[in-house]
Amino acid sequence: RSKEEGGNTHHSYQHKLHANAEERRVLEFELRNALESNQFHLEYQPVVEANGDHGVVGFEALLRWNNPKFGNVSPAKFIPVAEDARLIVPIGNWVLRQACTDAMNWPSSIKVAVNVSVDQLTSPSFVETVVQALHDTGLPAWRLELEVTESIFVRDGGLAVQILDRLRKLGIKLSLDDFGTGYSSLGYLSNIRFDTIKVDRSFVTGASKGKAECIAIIRAVVAMADALDIATTAEGVENEAELAMIQQFGCDKIQGYYFGRPMVINDACALFSDIQRSSVA
Ligand code: C2E
Ligand code: MG
Ligand code: MG
Ligand code: MG
Repeated sequence: RSKEEGGNTHHSYQHKLHANAEERRVLEFELRNALESNQFHLEYQPVVEANGDHGVVGFEALLRWNNPKFGNVSPAKFIPVAEDARLIVPIGNWVLRQACTDAMNWPSSIKVAVNVSVDQLTSPSFVETVVQALHDTGLPAWRLELEVTESIFVRDGGLAVQILDRLRKLGIKLSLDDFGTGYSSLGYLSNIRFDTIKVDRSFVTGASKGKAECIAIIRAVVAMADALDIATTAEGVENEAELAMIQQFGCDKIQGYYFGRPMVINDACALFSDIQRSSVA
């Protein structure tokens, strides 16, 4: 259905990852009323334990945009445009509220992870917005995980740390996403305690192809995280060989196509009824 709605322009918008100036202008125009016209929805990708029976510990909420003109546009393409246009604050706040609402229908041990852009994190009332979302939905703080990237330490480093600290004191969990791809200083890890470091998919892919550098980096990250009492999640595990490799490295959690692609909310909920049925059986 969405393919037909997307029409001819659909393909040109999916193929190139980064939008050029003209594309960005057009995307920005379309993004301006995307929220009001309900063009967004969330998909959820399971995060599972690396060992044992690979039980689901949480889901990451991933934003999807279906535009009547362009069809499905990848977040890699529209998130940067939304950030530049300062639309990421209202959009990101919608994601937060929707994810908390959805998580209330899951078993109470299951967490929900929400990606937060630096401009959203450092926007004036972000902490209040989070508190309000938890209050209105009834989701306990410890079930909400906020994912930020190292880029938050590049700009307004002090402010970001302050805000993360306030969130942490509220009991919210913090994850450092795409670790290893951004700002290379590790000093900030002594200023803010993350619950989880997410090892970027590029290292998992590289390591599985035998790249010595990627293997060394994953080993070093896991050793450092262990020493700091931070959990690790390996991103982008796509097959059994990568699973075996990641288990050998000692990562705690896994997220990747091998255990589940991002899925619509109903499919995520169906996963739980399966789990509950099999654990009763
Ligand atoms: P991310 O937060 O690192 O999310 C993981 C991305 O990796 C997702 O791409 C997911 O579909 C993809 N992925 C997961 N497992 C595999 C795998 O095994 N193989 C491959 N090839 N890919 C895998 P997606 O959904 O396209 O999102 C891309 C990025 O867009 C996210 O990266 C995140 O940085 C950003 N994003 C998505 N939703 C939001 C949002 O609500 N707010 C903000 N600020 N950013 C978001
Ligand atoms: Mg993420
Ligand atoms: Mg990531
Ligand atoms: Mg990533």
